[in-house]
Formats: sequence, structure tokens, C-alpha cells
Amino acid sequence: MREFTYEAQPMRVVLRPGGSVTAVPDEAGRLGLRRLLVVCGPRGAETARAVADALGDACAGLHAEARMHVPAEVADRAVEAVRAVGADGCVAVGGGSAIGLGKVIALRTGLPLLAVPSTYSGSEMTPVWGLTEHGTKRTGRDPSVLPRSVVYDPELTLSLPVGLSVTSGVNAVAHAAEALYAPDASPLVSLMAEEGARAMTGALPALAADPHDLDARGRALYGAWLCGAALGATTMGLHHKLCHVLGGTFGLPHAETHTVVLPYALAYNAPAAPEAMAALGRALDTDDVPEALRELAGRLGAPRSLAELGLKETDVAVAAGAVSGQAYPNPREVTEAGVLGVLRAAYAGDRPSARH
Ligand code: NAD
Repeated sequence: MREFTYEAQPMRVVLRPGGSVTAVPDEAGRLGLRRLLVVCGPRGAETARAVADALGDACAGLHAEARMHVPAEVADRAVEAVRAVGADGCVAVGGGSAIGLGKVIALRTGLPLLAVPSTYSGSEMTPVWGLTEHGTKRTGRDPSVLPRSVVYDPELTLSLPVGLSVTSGVNAVAHAAEALYAPDASPLVSLMAEEGARAMTGALPALAADPHDLDARGRALYGAWLCGAALGATTMGLHHKLCHVLGGTFGLPHAETHTVVLPYALAYNAPAAPEAMAALGRALDTDDVPEALRELAGRLGAPRSLAELGLKETDVAVAAGAVSGQAYPNPREVTEAGVLGVLRAAYAGDRPSARH
């Protein structure tokens, strides 16, 4: 038996169709909260309004200004809004961007956060916050940003377009994959990661065939929960570092970038992570995990190459230099030539191979 350390996160999770309006008021009541500010992005305002209405007198206002990667000025305005209404807590409704804003509010004010996720990003399960100042994103870990309660409402995700559902779903699988070979992996987290990858990859074809399949939407959120919990419990490797650089430095879209890069990062790491590959193989029912993931995402209409996402060929070498110049845990040694091979293959959308 390998040694391990496991730390349970103090968090309540409710999964219920309609829960964004039926469960959120109860969750706020359990926490004794009476003046909640609801935060969301501009496109999520209608849904967040329904949550605000359900809270009734316990809603102190609606702030619909969340944006990708939490720009500092957006965070400043949100904290001002919290103070202006005398809020005693915050409910973030939306994807990783809205939840990211809720986390920075919690970090700066110490107020409790409730999360109502509408994508599969998994941010709601992690104590990691991010803030973008002068074009640079800083991240940190702080237990105070972990939501006190998370309400997963499959009905809320019926409007998530199939394209974004698929890429966001593969983003979740990426968390599970890297958790399985993380240096701080542990048996319970590995079980969650394997089951999360199984639930998500099983749900995606069904919801792509019928985006209104509530059962498939529920299974995808269940998968997102488990994959997000695995992300929150472990330290990510090469794949997340590649996506961080491609998103942060070259402005590539978050979930789509994860979807394109994952098969190549896994093909690179596979020879050094046989147990993780075996777990993912069981989850996806395949003996070629990288190709199975690439085939699944492509079949469901996701982009297949970094070129399609707008990366310039000349940026490939710049990104490879940035990713290989940093220190982070990874099962296989990260060399500049290795990263360059991974990025070249992902740029072209080639069949993934461990030889890159
Ligand atoms: P997002 O929150 O930016 O949402 C993407 C788009 O989908 C937005 O335009 C949004 O309005 C729309 N959308 C969301 N839910 C919808 C729904 N149900 N119906 C219709 N449209 C909907 O994207 P994301 O991929 O969820 O999150 C990405 C952000 O989260 C990034 O900034 C990333 O760094 C961060 N993130 C952080 C962590 C963490 O642990 N801190 C984990 C994962 C992601």
C-alpha cells in the first residue's frame, strides 16, 4: 500500500432538478444568511434573477458583472456592491467565471459563499481563487473561498449549448486525469476521479444527442462534482500548465483549449503513469485513452486543433518555452523538446502519440 494523506473538505452538496430555486433558499437558511448578493455574468442574468426571486427578502441584490478570469476592476466593483447593500453572504450563479468572482468576494470580505454551477468547470469544489491584474492572472489557495454549499441543478444546464457542454465536460475529465497521477493522489480521491471521468464521458454523448435529456444533464453534473473534487484535492501537472499558458498568454478559450490539449498531454504522460491510464481506461472502456478522448470530443463536434482555436504557428515554440521553464509536478520529466512535440501535435490535431 502506498502512503497517502487525505483531507476532507467541509462542504455540503445538493444535486436536485430545480434546486437553484428550491434548494438555494434552504441552504441560505441553514447557514443563517438573510442578505445575500447574487452574482453572475451578463449572459446568466435571467437565471440568476430566478434564484434572486426565490430568495425573496433574503436577496440583497443582483450583480451581473462577472467576466472571464476575474479582472481586478470587476472584483473591486463587486466588493463595493457587497458593502453597499450590507450583504451577509454571496450566491454565485454560473460557470467558472461567476464562481471565480464569488470566490474573490469571499476572500476579500470573509463572507460565506454559496455556488450554483451552470457548467462543468469544477471551480466550485476547489479552494483556488484567481484574479487578473495588468494582464497577469494570479492564483492562490485559501480555505475561505471554498463554497459552504453547492447546489447542482441539472435544469440550469439545459441551456448550456452542446459545444460548450462537451468542451466543459472534457475540462472536467482533465481534472480527473491529472488527479490520478498527482504526487498527492490518494485512494478515495482516485476513486472519485475514475468515477467522475466515467460519469462525464458516459453522459456527454447522450446530452449531445438530446440536450434536454435531464438524466444525462444530471449525470454530467455528478461527474463534474467528482472531477472538481479531485481537482481541489490534488496538484495538477503538465496538462493544466499548458492550458494556463495558452489561455493566459495567448488568450485561447478555457474549456476548448483543455479539450484539444488533453489527449496529447495524456499521451506524453502515459508511459510514466500506467495506473492512472488503467483507471481512465476502465472509465472510458478503452485501451487507448488519449485516442478515445480525441475521438469522443471530435465526434461530438469539439475543435480538434490549437490552429482551429486561433493559435499562431510561431506561438507554439514561445508557449513550449514558457511551459518547460516552470517547475511543477508531473509523472514524466518535462523537457522543452517534449513540450514542443506535444504542442506541435496539438496545433496540427494529429493522432496523439507518446513519442511527441
Ligand atoms: P465561463 O464561466 O466563462 O462560461 C462560459 C460561457 O458560458 C459564458 O459566456 C457563460 O455566460 C456561458 N454559460 C455558462 N453557463 C451557461 C448555461 N447554463 N447556459 C448558457 N450559457 C451558459 O466558463 P467556464 O469554463 O465555466 O469557467 C472558466 C473560468 O473558470 C476560467 O477563468 C477558469 O480559469 C476558471 N476555473 C477555475 C477553477 C478553480 O479551481 N479556481 C477551476 C476551473 C475553472
